[in-house]
Amino acid sequence: MKKMIWAPLIVSGFLFQLAASDFELVKDGRSQAAIVRPSDRNKEVDEAISFFNAEAEKCVGRKFDVLEAAPREKNSIVLNVRKASIPEDDFFAIDFPDKNTMQITCSDRSARWAFNHLLEKYFGVRWLFARNAHDSYEGEINHYPPVKNLAVPRKKFEKNSSFNLYRCVDFRFTGFEKNWNLKRSFTGIHCMVIDVFPVYKYALDQSWPAEILPVIKGEKYIPPKAKGPLSKNIWLARGNYCIGWQPCWSNPKTTGIAIENILEILAKNPDKHEINMDVNDCRGFCECPECLKAVKGKTNTIGCADYSELYWKWVNDVAAAVARKYPNVYFTAIAYTEVTDPPSFKLCPNVIPRVCLELTAMLDPAVYAKRMKMFKKWGEKASLLAYYDYSYGASWYLFPRLYFGMHSELLKMLHANQFRSVFIESDAVNAFEGPKHYLFSKMLWDVNSDPEEIVMDWCNHAVGKKAAPFLRDYYRFWEEYWVRPEIEKTQWYNTLEQIYMQGGEKSTHTFALKVGDMEKCRKLMEKVVQHAGTPLEKKRAAIFMKNFELSESAAKALFSEIIQPDSTVASASDAVTLLKSVPEALVHIGKFKENPWNRHVTKDLLPFSVANLRLIMPYMNDNAVRAEIDKLLALPNLPPEMKGQFKLWLGAEAGNVIPNGSFEEPSPLPTGWDGSKLPGSRSSDYASDGKYSIKSSYLMCEFTLPAKKPGTYFLMFDAFAPKTSVEGRLNYMFTLRTKKQNRNHTYYRDISLPANKWQTFTGMLYLPLEQSGKMIDNFQIHIYTRKFEPDCPVYIDHVRLYRLEDLK
Ligand SMILES: [Zn+2]
Repeated sequence: MKKMIWAPLIVSGFLFQLAASDFELVKDGRSQAAIVRPSDRNKEVDEAISFFNAEAEKCVGRKFDVLEAAPREKNSIVLNVRKASIPEDDFFAIDFPDKNTMQITCSDRSARWAFNHLLEKYFGVRWLFARNAHDSYEGEINHYPPVKNLAVPRKKFEKNSSFNLYRCVDFRFTGFEKNWNLKRSFTGIHCMVIDVFPVYKYALDQSWPAEILPVIKGEKYIPPKAKGPLSKNIWLARGNYCIGWQPCWSNPKTTGIAIENILEILAKNPDKHEINMDVNDCRGFCECPECLKAVKGKTNTIGCADYSELYWKWVNDVAAAVARKYPNVYFTAIAYTEVTDPPSFKLCPNVIPRVCLELTAMLDPAVYAKRMKMFKKWGEKASLLAYYDYSYGASWYLFPRLYFGMHSELLKMLHANQFRSVFIESDAVNAFEGPKHYLFSKMLWDVNSDPEEIVMDWCNHAVGKKAAPFLRDYYRFWEEYWVRPEIEKTQWYNTLEQIYMQGGEKSTHTFALKVGDMEKCRKLMEKVVQHAGTPLEKKRAAIFMKNFELSESAAKALFSEIIQPDSTVASASDAVTLLKSVPEALVHIGKFKENPWNRHVTKDLLPFSVANLRLIMPYMNDNAVRAEIDKLLALPNLPPEMKGQFKLWLGAEAGNVIPNGSFEEPSPLPTGWDGSKLPGSRSSDYASDGKYSIKSSYLMCEFTLPAKKPGTYFLMFDAFAPKTSVEGRLNYMFTLRTKKQNRNHTYYRDISLPANKWQTFTGMLYLPLEQSGKMIDNFQIHIYTRKFEPDCPVYIDHVRLYRLEDLK
């Protein structure tokens, strides 16, 4: 019937009249409506009104009147604010009860969501970039189109969120997050020493009840006594108390004391709606006989000792007891490391477990299957689930890490499996990854959105419709990069099953590039710059170009297009190509340093570039390779680090700073961590130099050296594994120390070793006299492994440290 009525109306030209019946907000640049403050308003609602008015003013050029009562004969926007609990407080509705009224029905929180909706949908505002205190885009960067006439169709609109408990994509841009409808309704993570065993109660006089303390490595652990009065800021007061230990959950007193403390805290804070029972960070699980008996040597889905039965029983018992008096309080608890798997029993409805694993690792079908099984099991044990995801970009990676479609699908999967709270630990702080975090926010709000539509809309608004397809293609290049077959051969990919994929490593994730990839990207970005229209679009295009140049410079400086995905150089001819590209790499090391957007990335690519040069070593006897090295040595601007390295390979002499570095004598040998006993021994099974090496399946070699002579130090050592380890990784690092305090670290991490082949590793350390005004006392080299199976030892030999200034 409706169709029959409407069709003739439009055909006979009544369309204008129909539009005129829309609810007018702006006409000829003048506001046609006033906002009516609700009588029982609060701060949050007032802030939402002020925000709307300030944002609308950027489009219209003037504010709407804000009145205490509805004006006669003028349109008014009225707010019908209702109390709502956390799961319901995202809901809002917009309707038109009479011809002069637009009514927003909302909660204190969702008043802002309703205004955001009006601003985006009808004013055309786009908050493209997160703003935070650390980044300045020098003036406006977001999109505010001029508005002369604006009317809203008189049609009821209702909206609720998908992840209705909690939504967060980065905790570093407080203040801006509400533009993206993000909702931080719960506190941070690892808050057990705030909410359950408070530092304020126990840390100052070290009065931690003995019953709750764990046995670690055979000894009762007691958290250290606070050095002075605890800060009033709870996050500062918490300090390191949330690291390296867990309560003993076998002791029934641990439950009783937790209940007592929580009841005390809730009595003092009647508005508190959440108790966080997260395990502390960095392990330290109790190894008392009772706890070990409960664990029974079992490992969980991610390969850790399985403490889930013990831990979740404790959480559940505490939550059940407290709920008798406080039925509306939530108990959040993280499913992390040793407590990742669900327990065998059902949890109380007020317990919200937060599963913590990098979601995009599920791009691998085997990981997908394994984790899906775990999520389903979790769904059977808890009525509400939360997720803690990692999606690092600029601070860990040199390329934008984009999986727009796939990550959105995974969020959909979470929602379909009862997850209602998502936190994504990431770098939402600059333009390096384009619309990544904007998309996250939109999907968290409405998981049924079309990610492609959101990304395209973002590109259109950022650089204009003509340039947008090229920007989209640039991002598409990276989406394809991270799933191309070559990426699976990188060492980076080996970290798939870790809680988060390798962080801090600056090379191997770039080795899936192919020759010509960066040129392709540059062409796309040049088109973006060329076709951007308005001054603001041009400004954004220039920012994207600079951010692309970070990746371009990194690829050139690290020889990423030449090095094979598995961190090898394929042939002597490739080694020559690599050496020929050193001058270009040097240019890019300089460009990278000067790029203003490098602040979230590493600032200096030189150490990584030098370390990658080692990959040509297998071809040192090739004449063409040697000729190319000779050419480089004649370059006046070749950095001393590279020059020194080449000279050493060609046989130059310099004293090894490390005594007995080939371990041919029984002493001195390196120590274990912090001067402890070396977890390993001298062995004559294999050696790369002389007869002996150090053998260990849990290697931790610490060399402590006096910092007498400042200069550039160059490390080389050889490593060998007789067989391949699935998870085993080699790491090494430098640490500068002032009066026993660690001041600075340079890491080389997560290297997998090929079977039965000695490999040489290199690293560089600039040893200054002082740092931040403190004299450097000594420095350390750590060479260590992680997760090698006990039957898979690693051998280290020929540890050499040269001061390049001493080369002869
Ligand atoms: Zn115990």
